[in-house]
Amino acid sequence: MPEQWIFLNDEYVSKENAKISVYDHGFLYGDGIFEGIRVYSGNIFRMEEHMDRLYRSAKSIMLNMPYSREEFNNIIVKTVEKNEIEDAYIRVVVSRGVGDLGLDPYKCPKANVVVIVEPLAIFPKKLYETGLEIVTVATRRNRPDVLSPKVKSLNYLNNVLVRIEAHLANVSEALMLNDQGYVAEGSADNVFIIRDNVFYTPPGYVGALEGITRNAVIEIAKDLGYEVKEEPFTRHDVYVADEVFLTGTAAEVIAVVKVDGRTIGDGVPGIHTKKLLEKFRERVVSEGVKVFTKKAAENVS
Ligand code: PMP
Repeated sequence: MPEQWIFLNDEYVSKENAKISVYDHGFLYGDGIFEGIRVYSGNIFRMEEHMDRLYRSAKSIMLNMPYSREEFNNIIVKTVEKNEIEDAYIRVVVSRGVGDLGLDPYKCPKANVVVIVEPLAIFPKKLYETGLEIVTVATRRNRPDVLSPKVKSLNYLNNVLVRIEAHLANVSEALMLNDQGYVAEGSADNVFIIRDNVFYTPPGYVGALEGITRNAVIEIAKDLGYEVKEEPFTRHDVYVADEVFLTGTAAEVIAVVKVDGRTIGDGVPGIHTKKLLEKFRERVVSEGVKVFTKKAAENVS
């Protein structure tokens, strides 16, 4: 029996057999969409919100989803259960499917669907205690009127270029600015700054993905009694903030302690970020769609 089952178009296959045609338009043109979802202690975190975003992305690029929402939800839950995994990252990919070599999406009769579930840690655990050093990069966020960052499309070249710049600067993440110079987001995460007890994050129109973790963090911060403002800010505001942190499904909530060589606050994760992270961790293990693995059943009995 394979160690990992991958859902591929109505079948569960081993990693070795999870293969897609080179004529798939996701491969040829980045024509498709994806989601990253997290499972914490057997709870799929905010699955409905992720699926809402996936279906919004599909609508925006006129991609026909081969499953109803209910069917797709069941596929995701079943893939987690089949892999017997309680803490994981779920990658959902829907590409336009197989066509000919031309661009024409109408020559792709059926979308390809892939669901991969596996453990994930993008940053070493220690960094959640010490905080990240990041830089801002020359690569700009693509303009919302060109390819909207709100569409979680397979076209991530913009974000990949950011990671190349980060790598060249010897750091593991970086911030993009938009075409007007306002801070937009990281390569795969949203950004928050805190100043005088107020949380700020760029509004959608600045050019950022509508992050599910971002929304959860806004809710948690408000529950903790903080004021949260969605308004544009510049690099200067980041440099002089009391605290800075990033949010994302993969990154979770991670403090930033240095930006472009400027030390943020005292150079260690700040008290507000720590408070928020604690509440975030409490919340992720207690809410969400429950999956039923053998391990979960053993724990109940
Ligand atoms: N921005 C970008 C560009 C991303 O790829 C991600 C990861 N999905 C995020 C922000 C964070 O969004 P979420 O919290 O929904 O994972």
